[in-house]
Amino acid sequence: MTIIITVDGPSGAGKGTLCYALAENFNYQLLDSGAIYRVCGLAALQQNIHLDDEEALTALAKGLDLRFCPQDGEVNAFLGDENVSKKIRTQEVAEAASKVAAYPGVRAALLQLQRDFAKGNGLIADGRDMGTVVFPNAQIKLFLDASAEERAKRRYKQLQSKGINGNFAQILTEIQERDFRDRNRAVAPLKPAEDALLLDSTTLSIDEVIQQALSFIQQ
Ligand code: C5P
Repeated sequence: MTIIITVDGPSGAGKGTLCYALAENFNYQLLDSGAIYRVCGLAALQQNIHLDDEEALTALAKGLDLRFCPQDGEVNAFLGDENVSKKIRTQEVAEAASKVAAYPGVRAALLQLQRDFAKGNGLIADGRDMGTVVFPNAQIKLFLDASAEERAKRRYKQLQSKGINGNFAQILTEIQERDFRDRNRAVAPLKPAEDALLLDSTTLSIDEVIQQALSFIQQ
């Protein structure tokens, strides 16, 4: 049996770091479902598909030539033969991902791809609807949240550490807009599963979040 641990929540709450730590700790597979939507968003931009064109986006998602290849301790995302791991991390692609992710046809087309990650001993599934839609029977569900202001601060500091001087107000607006879209879409809106443990990382360090998650999982 594959143990499945889902971690849902808005962008910037610390899910990526938490999921990586959990996957290392238990030696489980890791599913970064956001990367799948990002690759789909990038493909739409590259092919000049209008982000309002649900039919074309659904067809794109159905035929998406996407692979994840582990290499030197990292997982690279490939779209066809192109390594797009860096390209999918831009703000433009994040926004495109959040727009394409609002379409039911796109989500349905990408569902099996995500479920196929559940093999071996265990899986840590990182996303927005892991506990509600993709793996409703997961043994353990977490929902990691933080205030929009705190998440914007973290993003601002992260950019600073890369030598980029971001605009805090703009970062906050982008986070709020993406949250609104993710929380209010008709299909698979961002919300905690009924049986999820809610963790608020606003005033916690990432180590504290990891400790709380581990003690809940090991109970
Ligand atoms: O998590 P990440 O920021 O990489 O996700 C990018 C976008 O993909 C999110 O803003 C969200 O709209 C979408 N997404 C989703 N369902 C998931 C994961 C991501 O709708 N399970």
